[in-house]
Amino acid sequence: MKMRYKPLEGYCKEYMRYLGIAKTERRSYAESVRLLEARGFKDISKFKSLKAGDKVYRGYEDRTVMAAVIGKKPIAEAGLKVVGGHTDAPRLDLKPKPLYEKGGYVYFDCHIYGGIKKYQWLVLPLALYGTIVRKDGTKVQVEVGDKPGDPVFMISDILPHLGYDQAKKTRDEFYPAEDLDVIAWTTYAKPKKDDKPGDAPKADKPALVEYLKKTYKIDEDDLLSAELEIVPAGMPREVGFDRSLIAGYGHDDRVCSFAGLQALIDAADNVPDQTASILMCDKEEIGSMGSTGMQSSFFENTVAELIERQERNAKDIMVRRALERSSMLSADVTAVDDPHFPDVASTGNGAFFHKGPAASKYTGGTSKSGASDCGPEFVARIRKIMDDGGVTWQMAELGKMEKGGGGTISQYMARFGMKVLDMGTPLMNMHAPWELASKFDCWQTYCAYSAYLRS
Ligand code: MN
Ligand code: MN
Repeated sequence: MKMRYKPLEGYCKEYMRYLGIAKTERRSYAESVRLLEARGFKDISKFKSLKAGDKVYRGYEDRTVMAAVIGKKPIAEAGLKVVGGHTDAPRLDLKPKPLYEKGGYVYFDCHIYGGIKKYQWLVLPLALYGTIVRKDGTKVQVEVGDKPGDPVFMISDILPHLGYDQAKKTRDEFYPAEDLDVIAWTTYAKPKKDDKPGDAPKADKPALVEYLKKTYKIDEDDLLSAELEIVPAGMPREVGFDRSLIAGYGHDDRVCSFAGLQALIDAADNVPDQTASILMCDKEEIGSMGSTGMQSSFFENTVAELIERQERNAKDIMVRRALERSSMLSADVTAVDDPHFPDVASTGNGAFFHKGPAASKYTGGTSKSGASDCGPEFVARIRKIMDDGGVTWQMAELGKMEKGGGGTISQYMARFGMKVLDMGTPLMNMHAPWELASKFDCWQTYCAYSAYLRS
């Protein structure tokens, strides 16, 4: 197998670079399209027809992308191989009317996106990224908090000296979601003539509105049509004296999406028999809803677009047959057993660091509800591909029954009749502002997807 990155460190360095850029799904999209185009992939609109070896991608709403290397066998006959991950990550979104004043300060009002533990987002340097769309359709990109000299944002917490009551509350109670708002501006308004000494200071929201107007050429109303995200400020870092782990925001699921992207780009050197493809999709963390989530028709439509460029008389039935003849690795993260939380570890069936990507036959909760539960025939096929390809991998489930559960996009893809197996990088502190992944596992995830796409 020919790979671009022989050394593990080279791959991880490139992944950390990407992760530092891809702080939002739009930024991941832009960087992924850049990487695809740099290696000869072209937008599908540039192709009237598609032949073996063609490198093509189709994006949607700047947030979801599918890319493929066209195989020797027509897609309508042979279907395709897919490595599918997501690039959205848990975070705080600014509400449509985000600016409010309280006690002399101006805050950004935030709405939780995805499953977070609220307390983990307190007293951290936070960055603001996103897109504001003016009424005339022009867009402004906002990126504050990661460039040297940038300010950051923060959510405050009470000092321990006054935290006695707080300490008695449960994890979910002690910090209401509605208070999970970042400090945006604290310079007070100039006192008015009739203000009395001893009056509480007034927040200077107009000054912030003026600042936004000057900096971004927008009015406060333009925030109504914006997608602004609060994410941890800072770049991915190596962890431990042996530097064997990476702390990063959004490993879930950029670690698998990026591995798929690189695996496809590198696999394009050889024309595959069966078309090889990847998906980097949006909205997984809120249930794969919306036009860019995998409950939409994007994937199906893209397969139809590919077939329409290969067949003289493309018919709907060809798309359906192609989907049924396709297979997929659902490229999403799972959890490692954390020695400090043995009560939830699936004893004997848990994943560990440094043992490679973990395949999960099923996700879901106690009763496997919501799982696509992959058939043993496809598991056996993947076992052979991995072992023949020299990949270090493990088989695991998320954790103990009756302790929780989770899902991925696999169920939405399996509904087409595709064989789908979950396989991705195991993480520690998943969904925390800084998640941990093993460098070896990141590298082997790339090797696993390479082996599959080339098989
Ligand atoms: Mn995920
Ligand atoms: Mn997740």
